[in-house]
Amino acid sequence: MRRAAAALAIAALAGVGAGVAWAQQGPPPPTPIPVETLAVAERLRDQALEQDEAYEIVEDLTTRVGPRLAGSEAEQRAIAWAVAMLRERGFENVRAEPFTIPFWMRLYDRGQVLGPNAQPLVMTALAGSPSTPEGGLEGELVRFESLAALEAATAEDIAGRIVFIDEPTIATMDGSGYGMAVRRRGLCAPLAQARGASACVIRSVGTHNHRFAHQGGRPRQADGANLPAAAVSPSDADQLTRLMALGPVRIRLEINVAMSEDAPSANVVGEIIGRERPDEIVLIGAHLDSWDQGTGALDDGAGVGVVTAAAELIGRLPRRDRPARTIRVVLFGAEETGIWGARAYAAAHAAGLANHIIAAESDFGARRIWRIQTRFGEGAISHGRALQAALQSLGITQGSNTANGGPDLAPLREAGVPVVDLTQNGIDYFNYHHTPDDTLDRIDPMELRQNVAAYAMFAYLAAETGWDFRALRAASSTAEAP
Ligand SMILES: [Zn+2]
Repeated sequence: MRRAAAALAIAALAGVGAGVAWAQQGPPPPTPIPVETLAVAERLRDQALEQDEAYEIVEDLTTRVGPRLAGSEAEQRAIAWAVAMLRERGFENVRAEPFTIPFWMRLYDRGQVLGPNAQPLVMTALAGSPSTPEGGLEGELVRFESLAALEAATAEDIAGRIVFIDEPTIATMDGSGYGMAVRRRGLCAPLAQARGASACVIRSVGTHNHRFAHQGGRPRQADGANLPAAAVSPSDADQLTRLMALGPVRIRLEINVAMSEDAPSANVVGEIIGRERPDEIVLIGAHLDSWDQGTGALDDGAGVGVVTAAAELIGRLPRRDRPARTIRVVLFGAEETGIWGARAYAAAHAAGLANHIIAAESDFGARRIWRIQTRFGEGAISHGRALQAALQSLGITQGSNTANGGPDLAPLREAGVPVVDLTQNGIDYFNYHHTPDDTLDRIDPMELRQNVAAYAMFAYLAAETGWDFRALRAASSTAEAP
């Protein structure tokens, strides 16, 4: 480990000093980072690469609390766990900021093929689905190869039947295949109901061939729909398609759910208070809630571990090395059912958003970070280049200035807060995402260390340098360094 850290440190120097390489990529060059500041950042990196605090946090959360559905009693336990955990790890101003959400929870869900080929289906109810009538709901399947095909269909094709959308999800490193596929999860029910269907079933939004069904959705269906809706595993979707080639297929769905209007949730906040500018906030976040089939290790226990461990490392610096600005860790509640926590945070802190200097969220699993993207003012792109140069020793490349910042940062981004994506390799993320297979054993502790190192360097540099990431025009580089 020590040898690796030394090699990384040399690579860092090469990266930061490589003015020639930057010049080849064209202007603007990276803003210079003061030598002492970079030295502290590199010390944080080396410490992060030799410890498993993040892994221990995910292990504790996924073991003691387990699944923690938004608005449930389990999420309340997760909130209490997070408050205690942040206090124990030395964070300041630790608190839960409560809000309420519309609640949906599946109590049981079962499906089966009826008739001469009778067999069970592996499926899960989609959020927002109502319960089926006593004894279940039976109907004949009508298959569509895509959401677009369902949109083009009429009631004549569908009325009284169970719509089945069998559209694949493409695996990509940046998760773009998910973005394309996920629309069917929310739109199947309203489109099918408008055409007289009795229920809707989708091929899971997932990129694997294991026999797990992927959860997801909002606590209430779109457009006022109220139609039983479920996702079958990709293997079961293939099986249904083969069965349909033999003749008409009838299935039975049994779904029982609980719903309520004002379920409690909360965001959990902890801070490392800044040495000189305590009111200026560098926010690093993740979400605390998860779906209920797995234990939410990748989504998003890993993020909770990464941002907490990164900030804790900074909090353990000697007083004189504490960064100038405050680092605020926000563990958002109720992300999965509609970024409720993110919206509650933006509303509660609306008056202080101008003091949110920059924000980043870890919510894409636990694999290595390979790229940094920013969404800065034009005049701050050189700061983004400087951050990348510092992170280059961790194998992190430069992306564009079109970052999204993660789901829970959407309201902040829309309010003009500069955001960063520390993009993880998501090539297999949607194999596990929202399934029973999202468990601790999917996490490689060494990859998690690299994530902590990247977040610690990023948060420290953003908090210490005094850079203005909203800047529309570049300041002169010498005047820039504090
Ligand atoms: Zn997530």
